[in-house]
Amino acid sequence: MDIMGVTIRTIVNDNVAIRCDGCREIIPGTPWRVNLLDTVAPEVAVGWAESTPVNPGPHQFHSDVACVRAWMAEKGYLFCRRGTVRDIMRPVPLPTEPASFGLCDGIHRDDHEFVEA
Ligand SMILES: [Zn+2]
Ligand SMILES: [Zn+2]
Repeated sequence: MDIMGVTIRTIVNDNVAIRCDGCREIIPGTPWRVNLLDTVAPEVAVGWAESTPVNPGPHQFHSDVACVRAWMAEKGYLFCRRGTVRDIMRPVPLPTEPASFGLCDGIHRDDHEFVEA
């Protein structure tokens, strides 16, 4: 496209293939980004030596709940079936050994119901 001698180019950014964190396939178009909120703010900052328990993301997926749940299952996260998969999920620490998290959209007000993702 050429306006008064100035060439306008659309910025093309499709050289970088984004892969789905769930199924590992390339995502055509815009990925579905899911962020995990920080766990309940700790009283003391996490030291450099300790790793943060949850990678906040954004994690990128196809626009398919199945891809997100496949990723949760792989990470060992449980999924709260009282909510749905949304752009922002809240990790809820579970009293399990080894420690794990359940992911919930945090919108419902009653108790969580965690199930295998
Ligand atoms: Zn996928
Ligand atoms: Zn919940």
